[in-house]
Amino acid sequence: MKAGPSVRVVSDRHLTLPSPPNWGGEREPIPLSAINQYLFCPRRAAFIHIEGVFKDNEHTLCGNIVHQHSDLAGYEVAKGVTVLRALPVWCERLGLSGKCDLVERRPDGALYPVEFKLGKRRRWENDDAQLCAQALCLEEMFGIPVPRGAIFHASSKRRREVVFTPELRALTERVIADLHALFLESEIANRRSELPRLPPVVWKPACAECSLYETCMPRASVGKDRAERLARAIFQI
Ligand code: SF4
Repeated sequence: MKAGPSVRVVSDRHLTLPSPPNWGGEREPIPLSAINQYLFCPRRAAFIHIEGVFKDNEHTLCGNIVHQHSDLAGYEVAKGVTVLRALPVWCERLGLSGKCDLVERRPDGALYPVEFKLGKRRRWENDDAQLCAQALCLEEMFGIPVPRGAIFHASSKRRREVVFTPELRALTERVIADLHALFLESEIANRRSELPRLPPVVWKPACAECSLYETCMPRASVGKDRAERLARAIFQI
């Protein structure tokens, strides 16, 4: 499995981060970005986070540009709100680590994560789950409820507030559990010197914009899967 992002502890005058957990045991943390990838396409998440395969296209390169400012760790204070950039976060209970693009610390002490995304203002379940996972990390680290956050949509320069409902929290935790199962399966395959099994292709219009299209070959793989299913049905294997 590809190692998660390295954790660098920063603090400001108002917020001191707890010590990060020691991940040296059996379970490596899931990178926060894998939650977004998995909900977009489990196969893409496996390519990136298990096979270590990644290719850029115009969409990923534009996404990188959107993150350039928020990737610079630091903080600013304006009108009583402390804005922390590139804040490292983790959740030991769920085996998660990564960073928040921005976390606002409001004058009343409330924490409000903000994730930057390239597209126009529109609700995407994968973006909401990634942001919710950040909230779960902040809640464990600072012992306070984090009920809402926002996605900043760079194309329309607008925020969209996301409320971390019980349903969104349940979805996020289910995806994290699925990812741990996927990573464990790949580790077992590695120990047996077998190739890890990738999740099957599910063809969708978004495949046309996937930077891993050439690696995945979804059209060909769908045909291969169908042929294998037919062969199994005919020969009852
Ligand atoms: S091409 Fe489609 S099926 Fe293949 S990894 Fe990308 S999104 Fe997933």
